[in-house]
Amino acid sequence: MGTSTDFSVAIAGAGLSGLCLAQYLMRAGVDVHVYERDAGPFVRRQGYRIILDQHGLQALRESLPRALYQLALATGDEPGGHLRFTDSRLRDAFTITFKDEPHATRQVDRLTLRSILQSGLNGRIHYGKDAVAVETGGPAGLRLRFSDGGSAAATVVVGADGVGSALRPQLMPDADPANTPMAGIYGRSPLHRNGESVIPEALRTSGVLALADRPGRAFFFTSMRFGESPQEAFGRLAPGNYAPTGYDYVMWGLLLQQQEVPADSRGDLLALWRLASQLSVDFHPVIRRLVGTAELDATVLNLFATGRRPRRWEVPRATMMGDAVHVMPPFGAHGGNTALRDAALLGRKLVEARAGDASVEEAIAGYQNEMVPYAFRAVDTAAGLMRRLTGGAAAPHWVLTRVLPRLHRVTVPEA
Ligand SMILES: Cc1cc2nc3c(=O)[nH]c(=O)nc-3n(C[C@H](O)[C@H](O)[C@H](O)COP(=O)(O)OP(=O)(O)OC[C@H]3O[C@@H](n4cnc5c(N)ncnc54)[C@H](O)[C@@H]3O)c2cc1C
Repeated sequence: MGTSTDFSVAIAGAGLSGLCLAQYLMRAGVDVHVYERDAGPFVRRQGYRIILDQHGLQALRESLPRALYQLALATGDEPGGHLRFTDSRLRDAFTITFKDEPHATRQVDRLTLRSILQSGLNGRIHYGKDAVAVETGGPAGLRLRFSDGGSAAATVVVGADGVGSALRPQLMPDADPANTPMAGIYGRSPLHRNGESVIPEALRTSGVLALADRPGRAFFFTSMRFGESPQEAFGRLAPGNYAPTGYDYVMWGLLLQQQEVPADSRGDLLALWRLASQLSVDFHPVIRRLVGTAELDATVLNLFATGRRPRRWEVPRATMMGDAVHVMPPFGAHGGNTALRDAALLGRKLVEARAGDASVEEAIAGYQNEMVPYAFRAVDTAAGLMRRLTGGAAAPHWVLTRVLPRLHRVTVPEA
């Protein structure tokens, strides 16, 4: 399908939601361009793995050409698995089991997903473009302005520029995210050492949240095993596109209080890794070994924040998606899924507007009216989970770390 030039969309941010929307609009023949601040597609690691739920998978199915959706599933981990809540010695408190249907919940490598989302968008993603403002006027209606002085004209501008969004103060002036007391130091370690898995067989298909004896500290880990080798799967389903990685790994995160992270260590990977090592000494030996074998350059600090419901949208033909609107603490795996859901919903509404079924303003208002309730339900759920699992309330913590683990057998021997 050709692209029509009388209706154009400029997206700020080539993250999960920005790329997903671009894919949706490309398939519908809309003239779309994405402007990304990073200098190139793989200059940052962009996190590790991501659990896609039914909303995320449905959004990808709607937005991507069939072969690219198949590629996401083929390179993903096996369907199903568990999320275990344990005490610091990996004794089970309780377990959630995921459905093992192919489209229910899938864990995928984030860098690989990003590469899949970039496939086919050649010439439509512009790197080194730091969006700073939206201006009204000009033949298309709006201009997206960049810090280098340049700008791009478009009928619709979409801010998909993540948690630190530069466009948010202008487009959603009353909705800066609120800080929380919690943070995570995240790392990545190879899954295999000397030919053997570092994760015991009993936890092969489990994500684990191990709660420390003291409230406000926990350790999360999960392994990411590629289904089909990404190199082969890209060759088969998206020839000419790039498989950025392919070896299995364990993603882990030490959850702690923000006040425990000294200000001068926040940008220092070695200091962050040392802090994670120090604060995980009382955890199970499997956990200590994971931190000990981490790849230093994959260390990331994330200060958890929660988005605030927008009450006003200042520019009628501009809107926002994903973490820029509704950042949430990473509990429950909703952030990326909600961002993808936004992209598919906004895509649908914009395509309706282009077809003349609604005005652009109605389409965008329709998107915002639908998005805000589901997205802020997810924010509330994630914030509530964070409070229950890491907050200072003594009774739930005592039940989770003292009562329930003693009712279960030891999951992972310490030897
Ligand atoms: C450790 C961790 C684990 C997570 N696990 C999960 C999970 O399992 N499941 C899940 O659903 N979610 C998960 N999330 C949340 C998920 O990663 C985010 O919600 C998701 O990436 C948001 O997508 P987005 O498109 O809004 O923003 P992003 O993916 O952050 O993309 C924003 C993009 O905008 C670019 N940008 C920023 N500023 C500008 C600018 N001024 N101009 C142009 N470009 C700009 C950035 O460089 C970036 O490429 C996790 C988050 C963390 C931190």
